[in-house]
Amino acid sequence: MVYENSLTFARHLDATDSLKGFRDRFHLPRVNGQEAIYFCGNSLGLQPKTARLAVEKEMHHWQERAVEGHFTGDQPWLAYHKQFKEPVARLVGAQPDEVVVMNNLTTNLHLMLVSFYRPTRQRFKILVEAGAFPSDQYAVESQVKLHGYQPAEAVVEISPRAGECTLRTEDICQAIRDQRDSVALVLFGGINYYTGQLFDLPAIARAAHEAGAFVGFDLAHAAGNVPLRLHDWGADFAVWCTYKYLNSGPGGVAGAFVHAQHARNASLPRLAGWWGYDETTRFGMKKGFVPTPGADGWQLSNGSILLMAVHKAALDVFEEAGMENLRQKSRQLTGYLEYILDHQNGTADTAIRILTPRNPEERGCQLSLLVEREGRRLFDTLAANGIIGDWREPNVIRLSPAPLYNTFEEVYRVGKVLAETAGYPAAKRAVV
Ligand SMILES: *Cc1c(COP(=O)(O)O)cnc(C)c1O
Repeated sequence: MVYENSLTFARHLDATDSLKGFRDRFHLPRVNGQEAIYFCGNSLGLQPKTARLAVEKEMHHWQERAVEGHFTGDQPWLAYHKQFKEPVARLVGAQPDEVVVMNNLTTNLHLMLVSFYRPTRQRFKILVEAGAFPSDQYAVESQVKLHGYQPAEAVVEISPRAGECTLRTEDICQAIRDQRDSVALVLFGGINYYTGQLFDLPAIARAAHEAGAFVGFDLAHAAGNVPLRLHDWGADFAVWCTYKYLNSGPGGVAGAFVHAQHARNASLPRLAGWWGYDETTRFGMKKGFVPTPGADGWQLSNGSILLMAVHKAALDVFEEAGMENLRQKSRQLTGYLEYILDHQNGTADTAIRILTPRNPEERGCQLSLLVEREGRRLFDTLAANGIIGDWREPNVIRLSPAPLYNTFEEVYRVGKVLAETAGYPAAKRAVV
C-alpha cells in the first residue's frame, strides 16, 4: 500500500476499515480528560465493555446458588473451562483437546518444563533466544538447577550477529544443529517482547526435532497478534498469557497447548493436581493419579471462574472480528506507523531506529524504537500528549497499534506529535 502522511489519508483508511466498529466495544483510557492514544496493547490490552457484565453474571450466580453454581446455570463452573476449547484451538491452530485455559503464564511454563525438559547426562541443554523475557529466563534457570545442572553450561543462548538486533532463522537452525548431540529442549518466544521480532516457528520446530529435541513456544506476544498453527508446526508444547493482545485483564487466566502426540500419554511425567484427574472418575477421590486425556490432564486446581468470565467475553469479540481480518488490518496499521516514523526521520536510521524487522512477515503489531539520545524525554513528551506506549531501559520505546481498537488517525497523530516535539530535531541531528 502507498501511504501518505496526511490526516485526510488516515481518515480515509479508517472510513474504509471493515473492523472500525470494534473500537467502540472497548473502554479507552483517558489522559487529562481526553481519550488517550493507547499503543500499549502488547502489555495490557483494553477492557472489553462486555467484561464487567460477564463477571457480574458469575458473581450473581455465586450469590444466588453458592456451591450449586458448580452444577447449575447455563455455564456450570464444573465444566466452565470446556467452553474455551473451540475458540482457543482456533486461535492457536490446535485441536480442541490440545489446549487448556488455566493458571498464569509462568506457572504453565514450569508445568510444561516438568514434562518436556527431562535432561540426561548426554542431553541436558536448553536452547533459548538471547534476551528472552526475564520470567522465562528465571524459569529455565531454576529448572536446570532443579535437575542438578549448571545454567552456564546447560542454557545456550542464541544471539544476533554482531551489529544486528534480530535473529536470522538460518542462524537459529544452525545453532540447534550445532547442539544436536546435547540439546534436550528448544524454547523460543513466538515474538520477542523487546525487539518485536516474529520468529519462524515452523522452521525452529523442524530443526529442533531433527536434532532430537523437544520444542516449546512462549506465545505471550504472539497469541491474538498473529495467526498460529501449533498443531501443524509440530510444537510439543506452548504457553501464553491472555492480558496482552487477548484483552482478558491484568493477571488474567493463561493458556497451554500440549501436542496430541503427547496429550494422551499418561506416562509423561508431570506435576499433578485433582483437576487434571480423569474426569469420569475424579470425584471417586481415589489414591493414585490418573490423568484425564488431553491438555486438561495438566490442570492442577479448579478453574478461576471470574478470570475465565473476562477471558470468554474478550474472546467473543476476537472471534467476531476474526484473526485473519485482524492480521490484515494489523499489517496495514503497523506498516503505516513504520511509514510515519520514517517520514519524521527523513531516513530510516537517524534519530529513531526501528529495531523490529522491516518485513511484515517477521513482526506483529509492535514496533520497537531505539532512541539513542534523549529517548526518555521523547517518551515523556509522547505521554504528556496522551500517547501511551511503553518504555524499556535504557533507550527503547515500544508502540503497538492493535487492530481491534486502534485507528490510522491515531498513528497519524503520533507522527504529528513527534514532528512538533521541541528539541526532538536536535536529538535527531546528534545521532550518526
Ligand atoms: C508478558 C510475558 C510474561 C509474563 O508472565 P506472567 O507469568 O504472565 O506474569 C512471560 N513471558 C513473556 C515472553 C512475556 O511477554
